[in-house]
Amino acid sequence: MSLYSGYIDKLIDELAALPGIGGKSAQRLAFHLIHLPKDKVKRLADAILDARENVRYCKECFTLTDSDVCPVCANKNRNHKMIMVVENARDLAAYEKTGRYEGVYHVLHGAISPMLGIGPGDIRLKELLQRLQGDVEEVIIATNSSLEGETTAMYISKMIKPTGIRVTRIASGVPVGGDLEYIDEVTLLRALEGRVEL
Ligand code: ZN
Repeated sequence: MSLYSGYIDKLIDELAALPGIGGKSAQRLAFHLIHLPKDKVKRLADAILDARENVRYCKECFTLTDSDVCPVCANKNRNHKMIMVVENARDLAAYEKTGRYEGVYHVLHGAISPMLGIGPGDIRLKELLQRLQGDVEEVIIATNSSLEGETTAMYISKMIKPTGIRVTRIASGVPVGGDLEYIDEVTLLRALEGRVEL
């Protein structure tokens, strides 16, 4: 038997299916939402729908963007011969926040994980190789220092080596298992500046 109305149960179920939100948080959010003024709820619902419908992948670096090419790739003042490979768009945002990186990015949307059954074909590696056909001088691998991140870094390094393009890995100032997005800007910069040849 349902404790609340069917509508509330449904809302709680949908919220609980989101990452990082448990049953209790879902309940709290659901009750918060139904007590909001209707126009506020509509703004939230519209923001979700608009984002879902209009956000797409940059056709150069595959980060999430509103247009064909993201602002970083579209910027002629950036060094397009230097590509930093990151696992996701949040990591890109973390490096952008330092304001000191002048190259461009490549977003993999994941990392190789034999345990989770994620292979090289499941992330944007093919697209990275394609970009390397162009004029590229250095690939900086900035995947996380988790097992998956290291596995991915090793794979990319082996993949790129034969092309003769310089491959570097950000320094290990980044704590093991640490998600890039949670690391402060100073540490990120130090990791970038102290990058090592692979
Ligand atoms: Zn881009």
